[in-house]
Amino acid sequence: YDLVGLDNLVANTAYLRAQQVDYDELRKRRVSLTLPKPKNSSGLLLDRKYESVCEQQPIGRKLFQEFLLASNPQYVAAAEFPEELSHWRFAEDEAREKAKRSILAKFCQPESKSFLSYLTGEAAEICKNLSNKNFDEEALEQIKEATRDFLRGKPFLEFMKSPFFYRFLQWKEYEKQKITNKYFYEFRTLGKGGFGEVCAVQVKYTGQMYACKKLDKSRLKKKGGERFALLEKQILEKVNSLFIVNLAYSYNDKTHLCLVMDLMNGGDLKFHIYELGERGIRMERLIYYTAQITTGILHLHSMDVVYRDMKPENVLLDAKGQCRLSDLGLAVELPKGRTICQKVSAGTTGYMAPEILKQENYRISVDWWALGCSIYEMVAARLPFKDFREKVHNEEVTRRTLEDECKFEHKNFDDPTKDLISRFLRKKQLHRLGSRGEDPRSHRFFQSINFHRLEAGLVEPPWVPKSNVVYARNTDEFRDNSEVENIKFDAKDEKFFNEFSTGAVSVRWQKEMIDSGVFDELNDPKLNGHGCESVWT
Ligand code: ADP
Ligand code: MG
Ligand code: MG
Repeated sequence: YDLVGLDNLVANTAYLRAQQVDYDELRKRRVSLTLPKPKNSSGLLLDRKYESVCEQQPIGRKLFQEFLLASNPQYVAAAEFPEELSHWRFAEDEAREKAKRSILAKFCQPESKSFLSYLTGEAAEICKNLSNKNFDEEALEQIKEATRDFLRGKPFLEFMKSPFFYRFLQWKEYEKQKITNKYFYEFRTLGKGGFGEVCAVQVKYTGQMYACKKLDKSRLKKKGGERFALLEKQILEKVNSLFIVNLAYSYNDKTHLCLVMDLMNGGDLKFHIYELGERGIRMERLIYYTAQITTGILHLHSMDVVYRDMKPENVLLDAKGQCRLSDLGLAVELPKGRTICQKVSAGTTGYMAPEILKQENYRISVDWWALGCSIYEMVAARLPFKDFREKVHNEEVTRRTLEDECKFEHKNFDDPTKDLISRFLRKKQLHRLGSRGEDPRSHRFFQSINFHRLEAGLVEPPWVPKSNVVYARNTDEFRDNSEVENIKFDAKDEKFFNEFSTGAVSVRWQKEMIDSGVFDELNDPKLNGHGCESVWT
């Protein structure tokens, strides 16, 4: 009988079962875990900016919050106000009215015990005079800023001398642990790339699933891919967006460099366009994905990064049905204010903008062109200048891209979609939507999307992947037969491997600790007076 099919079934079953968290099993796995003592040196090297410790890092933020709530009523109010404010911002209808009434009663009445008594000057006036009538975004933002200024001062200094901060240093020490293959269980291969495969992995102690992209060291060296691998890692590590695959760990073993990223188990959009029955993606989903992709691209551009590989194949869906951009292997950072131009064109045939094909200078505009092609493909299941599976020379695709007008023959194109695509497919960079700082999100194509809520992850996906389906090709299709000769590595290579392997990425790792409950389990509820003077003096 079918042994290959059986292998695949076994691999799928193990992979799907791992995703059902077994809390008893997990608790058993982590009984022996304890928080390490912080080393003197680590306390000194730590980044001690308020923004980093108390806002960006999830564990720092949580401990600072706990510190405030355990202090005086003024600090408690300063901790609660921003929380209730963001609750109001994202609430709708009745809940929004209720949140507003609560803010007014709690924080703006001098006789309330949560009155924001630390405010001074203009902010204090605004707060006292706040009412149903002038309850607007601007006034509240001003109070929020004043609250931050307050927290950044005395409360932050006191926090750094408290046991809560000692606890933070312990977590930072733990975060620095060396990551090896032993940290994970490994499951089936999900995809294959130029330098190796991507497989599903699970962190033993937290149960968190990730995708691990393994780059073969020998292959990297032979093809000179080291520079790009490091660049991909460095960009991935810097992005912090709901719509771009985030990096959680980077490490290496004997043979591979490993990038551990968000697991996207809903398949890529190319798979969804071509392989699931009726071709194309229906309008409601398409608008939702395009809104998320656009937000992701804008995030990269705000960091002066050009993606250069926008295409449905690189957009992956997660278990909830939200999408993220992945594969930043071609992404580059733009030198400030400069353009790039390379003799070798970068990108994929069919998605490359005229300026790339003509080897002219370009900046971010190439991503908007490629997005135009991708939206077209999601509707019509073909590219604007290349039919599905059409056997055609690259030169001909280039000619069409440079000379032909884009035609909209498929029945599913409606007016807003045609208009948006046409604006993204303007041949001249300067005429293209998105290239001169206008925001593509204000186009009427997106009229049904509330971007504010979308960016907070609050818009329900129009389609959710089935939890018992593996949206990937069968495992045997990834078998690798090509032999790579064993290449010797020198000191320079080893230096590069180390530079690449920085272990856990703070924000993502801390979030994993909190979400999995490890944070609560390892935090002794009574923070009883650890003397921590020695750590920072
Ligand atoms: P390459 O840069 O070599 O093309 P990719 O990053 O595109 O490598 O990864 C190769 C394949 O692995 C993808 O096409 C996709 O099928 C799968 N893959 C990549 N990243 C993930 C992820 N985060 N979750 C699930 N599958 C992934
Ligand atoms: Mg790829
Ligand atoms: Mg790549």
